[in-house]
Amino acid sequence: METKPEYEKDPSGSSDFISEFIKEDLKNGRFTYVHTRFPPEPNGWLHIGHCKAMALDFTMAEQFGGKCNLRFDDTNPEKEDLSYVEAIKRDIKWLGFDWEDREYYASDYYGYLYDLAVKIIKKGKAYVDDLSEEEISEYRGTAVADKNNITETPPGRNSPWRDRPVEENLDLFARMRAGEFADGAKTLRAKIDMTSPNLLLRDPVMYRIRRDTHYRTGNSWCIYPMYDFQHPLSDAKEGITHSLCSLEYEIHRPLYEWFIREAEVFPSRQIEFARLNLTYTVLSKRWLLRLVQEKYVSGWDDPRMPTLAGLRRRGYTPTAIRSFISQIGIAKTDSMVDIAFLEYCLREDLNKHSPRVMAVLRPLKLIIENWEPGKVEELEAVNNPEDESMGKRAISFSGELWIEEDDFEETPPPKYHRLFPGNSVRLRYAYIVTCTGFDKDPATGKITAVRCTYDQATRGGNAPDNRKVKGTIHWVSAANAVPLEVRIYDHLFAKERPMEIPPEGNFLDNLNPHSLEIISGAYGEPCLADAAGEDRFQFERLGYFVKDMTALQETGPAGPGPDDRAKPVFNKTVGLRDTWAKIQGKQTAL
Ligand code: ATP
Ligand code: MG
Repeated sequence: METKPEYEKDPSGSSDFISEFIKEDLKNGRFTYVHTRFPPEPNGWLHIGHCKAMALDFTMAEQFGGKCNLRFDDTNPEKEDLSYVEAIKRDIKWLGFDWEDREYYASDYYGYLYDLAVKIIKKGKAYVDDLSEEEISEYRGTAVADKNNITETPPGRNSPWRDRPVEENLDLFARMRAGEFADGAKTLRAKIDMTSPNLLLRDPVMYRIRRDTHYRTGNSWCIYPMYDFQHPLSDAKEGITHSLCSLEYEIHRPLYEWFIREAEVFPSRQIEFARLNLTYTVLSKRWLLRLVQEKYVSGWDDPRMPTLAGLRRRGYTPTAIRSFISQIGIAKTDSMVDIAFLEYCLREDLNKHSPRVMAVLRPLKLIIENWEPGKVEELEAVNNPEDESMGKRAISFSGELWIEEDDFEETPPPKYHRLFPGNSVRLRYAYIVTCTGFDKDPATGKITAVRCTYDQATRGGNAPDNRKVKGTIHWVSAANAVPLEVRIYDHLFAKERPMEIPPEGNFLDNLNPHSLEIISGAYGEPCLADAAGEDRFQFERLGYFVKDMTALQETGPAGPGPDDRAKPVFNKTVGLRDTWAKIQGKQTAL
């Protein structure tokens, strides 16, 4: 039985336990250099959990002056596809990691892996089995709980084919490869230990027969290597020193070491770290694929998805994601991170770098009764109070403005400091106005316009008579505002832990039915029409927003009329208010 490596005993869970092991390996001469790999399977798009793995793989290499390979772990023909390869490469680049020319594919190693399988057979350590996949798992047995609820794993049974002579195994394996047997008729199994308490060591399957067309190797192979056999030997082929992977592979580690030993190849070392889990979302390609296929979202890059492409469309920056990943640390126990912390990291970055503009989501006309008809005035607005170098811009002011519907109340509730008859507010960067009345549609009872007068002496923040008003509201000039479509998002799932599934239900029952709200009649400053894709803004008082070029493509080319589909679309990235500070106390309990 294998001995426990020293790092398994590490109780600290400290964020840097991996670099400690690496330092140790370099000191005691186990390795003379550091080389890692990031090994995505091209069966879906990358999500934020993968960012944790990716950041670790690339930064550990960098920290020790080593290299990190990008390796597509593509040995499962059923689910893999070139479109996923392309999406993965684009997203890694966007996040800012660089594999240079080190782009590898496990599917390029089929010949090498086949030869190593032959080597293991020759050593009498692997055999061709005629049992079906169901019989194999039945022979292996399972863990059972006794009457005191103590789990036991009674020994498994040997396959009747376990002791086939080496020559026969070699012959059968060659014929498996040559396509002489039906899918599932035979497997190649490692001969390890059918009594091991670790079920994975009970003669794991190394190769299965599958007549599937692989997206890269086509039909040249009809046998495919299994993960546990393929992964360590692919690592060894590339001279990977530290093969970092998520915690669920911990029980696979003895197998990783067994294959390296028996194949007599470079001694790559596997080290596990805790998976990232986030509240109100799921981080598993399998579940994300279902959301896409069953059209609960518009695609892998839907701005509600935790995929990198979704986060990018939502307005996340690479800086915010990398800052989040480095602050959550590595740890060796699985944990659930509050999504509010991710949003906090995002807000920190956006606050520093986003230009401020004004936009009105639910417009209500404000008519300035004492404004000279047709007059337009230029006022000055600060682009970013956090960063003077971002300068100032001119905004135009006129006698008809759009303000937010909820910045006016006919009958104000207590402590309401915005507009109501008789009350004054400051229009941001402009004048103090006093509400003189409003127009109402008698048929619907809906307020159609608010009327006011302005005080010329209060221009641009002036208050000559020391007059103070309690409210400041934002606005855009009706004369030049651009129509916008704004999409407001909420968590994709209504439950903090979506995988806590109600009895007889499934995780889809936990989807949040209100995760998307489309506001089609918004208005914004003219500069928003010219913004490019991924341009991010703070809409004053409302939150951070990003221009969504993908949505423009979806809605098609410009049509005639005021309600045409060429309107710029903005996604709400995150609100202004920090919910993280409040939650911090709760976080420890999660
Ligand atoms: P999924 O469960 O989403 O299908 P996976 O492990 O099958 O994930 P891979 O493409 O095989 O996806 O993963 C590439 C790398 O990313 C692996 O090293 C894996 O351990 C790591 N990884 C995947 N999900 C997470 C996560 N939530 N947190 C940290 N690392 C992860
Ligand atoms: Mg995987």
